[in-house]
Amino acid sequence: MNQTLDVLVVGGGLVGASLTLALLQQGFHTGLIEAKKAQPIEPVDFSRPGFDHRVFAISRASERIFRALGVWEAMCAQRVSPYQAMQVWESFGEIGFDHQDIGQENLGHIIELQVMQYALQQRQQDFPQLHGYFETKVSHLQQHEDYLAVHLNTGEVLTTRLLVGADGGDSQIRKLAGISCDIQPYGHHALVASIETALPHQATARQRFLPSGPLAFLPLTQPHTSSIVWSLPPEQAAAMQALDKPAFHQALEQAFNSRLGSVLESSELFAFPLRRRHAKPYVKPRIALVGDAVRSIHPLAGQGVNMGLLDAASLLDVIVQAQTKHRDIGALETLQHYQRWRKGENLKILLAMDGFKNLFGNSWLPLRWARNIGMRLTDATYPLKNKLMQQAMGLEGDLPRLAR
Ligand SMILES: Cc1cc2nc3c(=O)[nH]c(=O)nc-3n(C[C@H](O)[C@H](O)[C@H](O)COP(=O)(O)OP(=O)(O)OC[C@H]3O[C@@H](n4cnc5c(N)ncnc54)[C@H](O)[C@@H]3O)c2cc1C
Repeated sequence: MNQTLDVLVVGGGLVGASLTLALLQQGFHTGLIEAKKAQPIEPVDFSRPGFDHRVFAISRASERIFRALGVWEAMCAQRVSPYQAMQVWESFGEIGFDHQDIGQENLGHIIELQVMQYALQQRQQDFPQLHGYFETKVSHLQQHEDYLAVHLNTGEVLTTRLLVGADGGDSQIRKLAGISCDIQPYGHHALVASIETALPHQATARQRFLPSGPLAFLPLTQPHTSSIVWSLPPEQAAAMQALDKPAFHQALEQAFNSRLGSVLESSELFAFPLRRRHAKPYVKPRIALVGDAVRSIHPLAGQGVNMGLLDAASLLDVIVQAQTKHRDIGALETLQHYQRWRKGENLKILLAMDGFKNLFGNSWLPLRWARNIGMRLTDATYPLKNKLMQQAMGLEGDLPRLAR
């Protein structure tokens, strides 16, 4: 058996990889288990046409976390797309947000998954002491008083003071730990693709609420190219996927009120079934969940990764504090601080997403009028708008050290 690790992270997605770096920077003896193959460390080849179909709206709080982890410069050196304005509308009511209203350079960045993955992976090379296990899964766990024995499918057994499940919405660690999870389908599939439009996006993120679901156009680095996230009931999403290109372009343009003129070209369409998940509890002795393993939300507010990074940064603060006070980093008492910290924030956003979905999913005419008038009123109320902008940028609430 190897030397006992301080922390073993399971899942090397954006949240798990970021937490791993944060732990290594703090000098924790850290391990990372990832089910997929180790990817070759090669820069993204931008001479090839097209964009990654997975792109994310990254908040200011996440930017600060990436800066603190030493990966932000490497992301910017590849390609990131800052957006300076946001427009949200249904029919006649609209809310507009502008970076100048809050004296900021931009409201956030749209970044491709492969750009973030490459920067995180490259930074991991600075920590040869990392114990990385790829194409590996955990088969079972054994609790001991001072450590957890983690049995791998390779037959190897690792011991750790704390195990972190960062293995996504279908978390195996959550299941092995016997942590229950409230799972409900949102009744939407999200269609994603890169889209070329006749009019330039002007560094503006746009979202239209339709009774069938929200449709977002996120601006990419080319002025006429955006990434869409179109949430639709599963049968309507499948029907869109079955259309030929000209018919799909026409349907998309119509759904978006031709805000960016004609849709000229589209990449392959990918569909993601959307589920609402919330784990209860977030922690057990020597086990903590972060990212989508603890909660998955509708992408309409583009907050999943952003919240996952705040989970990671908050958990880091809690265990650094425990270590400083010579307390056990895996003790339930320590981990419950993390749970208390994040649960309130998570419940707020889960409920807000439910509210948005239910409110805009109803096409009863008086309600449509009321919400469009509500949008106009919100648009004219600067303190409220500013608060909404601060929230979207991840700058509200009790922020962990890396995000401050
Ligand atoms: C269409 C769409 C658009 C979105 N847009 C945004 C956005 O704009 N902004 C935003 O913040 N969020 C967005 N999200 C949410 C975001 O995708 C998720 O919240 C985020 O990817 C979660 O990251 P994670 O690292 O927790 O999990 P994941 O990305 O799921 O990573 C989990 C990792 O664990 C590994 N793994 C899985 N099982 C095991 C196992 N048994 N053993 C070992 N490893 C395992 C996986 O291979 C993977 O590497 C969007 C989601 C969707 C569907």
